[in-house]
Amino acid sequence: MNDKGLLNTFSRSPLDRLNNHRNQASLVEECEKSNQVRYVIFFQREPLLKLQVEQGHPEGTAKSSEQAHIAWFTKEHHLVQQILETGRQALLLGKWTEPHSQCTGDASSSSEVMDKYCFVLDATGVWDSDQIAQIEAQPMNIRSLLYKVRFDPQEAAVLAHAQSLLEFHARHQYCGKCGVATRVEGMGSKRVCSSGCGMEWFPRSDPVIIVAVVNGDYLLMGRQASWPIGRYSVIAGFMEHGESIEDAIYREVKEETFIQVGRCRYHSSQPWPFPYSLMLGFVAEASTQTIQVDKHELEDAKWFSREQVKEMLSNQRQGTSGLRGPPPQSIAYELCHAFISGDEICHF
Ligand SMILES: [Zn+2]
Repeated sequence: MNDKGLLNTFSRSPLDRLNNHRNQASLVEECEKSNQVRYVIFFQREPLLKLQVEQGHPEGTAKSSEQAHIAWFTKEHHLVQQILETGRQALLLGKWTEPHSQCTGDASSSSEVMDKYCFVLDATGVWDSDQIAQIEAQPMNIRSLLYKVRFDPQEAAVLAHAQSLLEFHARHQYCGKCGVATRVEGMGSKRVCSSGCGMEWFPRSDPVIIVAVVNGDYLLMGRQASWPIGRYSVIAGFMEHGESIEDAIYREVKEETFIQVGRCRYHSSQPWPFPYSLMLGFVAEASTQTIQVDKHELEDAKWFSREQVKEMLSNQRQGTSGLRGPPPQSIAYELCHAFISGDEICHF
């Protein structure tokens, strides 16, 4: 295992997914009877979260001192009952078995979920906005909140898992082979076609390569026209069928910048739940230097020196003007950081 990946946002899940027990009647029964069950609830594709002022907020960042926490609901809550009475199934995420994160200065609200079975439940179409207004927590967009407030690392991993799982179920209501409705099985770990055609549909991740292309003391970075002004990042793109990871790195870098790469090394990975990508982070050695930007993909691409990248990451963290790097919650930031800190992975 590469421990770098454990540091990336949305990793470090504290849940045991119970994959060897999901088809056993005893687990279903235990969850039905038990009061050791907690729900994270989504409404219109956004989880219900609470914002709390964080103690011991680190200096030197542009973020507010607020921290987002999951609003855990019990089975007895009348609004949870209302959803379950419609016949909608809660999807099992797993049992919270890991000790709580020590990474935040705040006592996590998740202490209440240790050893509990954690499920995700969709309130969309059952609750209305008046009911939402009556509860303390509110539906919030993870992606936009990610750059504004802090998340407990373990809760961020649970939210990423929950969001991707709900999205999988929303997009696989019908069998892709015969078109008949599918149903939930394995407590949410798969969908099975109801027609008897035999198809089972499992949650998938879409692999995306993301690569820091290094040319000695210079790093290749590009920007898309839709990004905030001044932001540059390392090269990334979806993998295609029939491609090895190395093939995808070579193709993507060449397509976007005309740069050819030679050796590449694995850095770390990051689940990216928008909707269910898996970022595969690498460092690669450039074997050519002349950039030609594909304007359909990128607005610009350049070689940046270590000093420049250092300043860009600093500008991003501080919220100051000028050229910026990727946000600190992204694996792209970690790849840039490996480059500026002289990590041996970047020396070919
Ligand atoms: Zn089918």
